[in-house]
Amino acid sequence: RAKSGGRDRSMLFDAQMRAEALRLLDLEADLRRAINREAFEPWMQPIVRLSDGEVVGHEALLRWNHEQQGPLSPDAFIGVGEDNGLIEQVDWLMYRRVFEWLASHEGGGYVSINVSPSHFRSEDFASRLLGLVSACGADPNRLRIEITEVTLLDDAPRALRTLNELRENGVYALLDDFGTGFSALSYLHRFPIQCLKIDRSFVAGLEGESHMESLALIRAILALAATLGIDAVGEGVETAYQSDTLRDLGCVYGQGFLFGHPQPVSPPALHYPDDDAAA
Ligand code: C2E
Ligand code: MG
Ligand code: MG
Ligand code: MG
Repeated sequence: RAKSGGRDRSMLFDAQMRAEALRLLDLEADLRRAINREAFEPWMQPIVRLSDGEVVGHEALLRWNHEQQGPLSPDAFIGVGEDNGLIEQVDWLMYRRVFEWLASHEGGGYVSINVSPSHFRSEDFASRLLGLVSACGADPNRLRIEITEVTLLDDAPRALRTLNELRENGVYALLDDFGTGFSALSYLHRFPIQCLKIDRSFVAGLEGESHMESLALIRAILALAATLGIDAVGEGVETAYQSDTLRDLGCVYGQGFLFGHPQPVSPPALHYPDDDAAA
């Protein structure tokens, strides 16, 4: 009885594994087709100054216009693309759209783009990025890149070279999801990082049982940023209470649904700004 139960369970497990493997293969094939169709676009989310709500920049967030499943967030497919280099191709398509947008929009502050660790590690990443920025006619001083702690620690000498090359050409770096990785406090100061983005888990934690703990962690991150002389952005701000608390703790900038959801930037098909002017 016990044995046959075990066999049933292991057959069920096999079937689930097979189904999952097939799903991933499908997704990979879909992703390759989507790359050919260039079915990716940036959605922009505002980053604001907490004291007065002024928009200082935007984060460009990748969306896949999937034919059946609609706009897909990176979390749904980035794992599949990271194992085979597809995410790099997606990133370049995405960045081109972002830089074209940047080139055609005066004002509106900076735009930050996300870079996967494996992509950031590729040898010519900085020069290729700077080349695309200039080919699109965008101002590198209005571009920032978001990387995570893993990206820094992976191959520190190379990360330093890449960040320095970008920095020398006007592109600032932000550390995304700060506090969730292996925070390398001892050598954070060696990297040209201009801003820490406080992970949204700490901001969410301000309300509820983990209030005191979240408060203490956010204070520590802000003290670190102040010591390094760099900015901080609170991520995932959803309530006025979270926004006020961050501001009172000395966090200057915030991002989250309270200030604006990510929005598509491309106009709907066959609609031009002139239509509005004429109407
Ligand atoms: P991230 O860089 O930490 O981006 C913030 C995520 O939090 C976004 O999810 C955003 O939609 C979401 N968010 C913003 N405000 C709120 C809020 O108030 N509450 C909650 N619950 N969520 C909020 P999204 O767009 O699904 O992106 C997920 C991750 O995918 C990003 O995390 C980033 O690591 C990665 N990613 C985004 N765009 C790109 C890209 O172009 N290339 C690469 N390689 N990765 C990207
Ligand atoms: Mg980000
Ligand atoms: Mg983040
Ligand atoms: Mg993230």
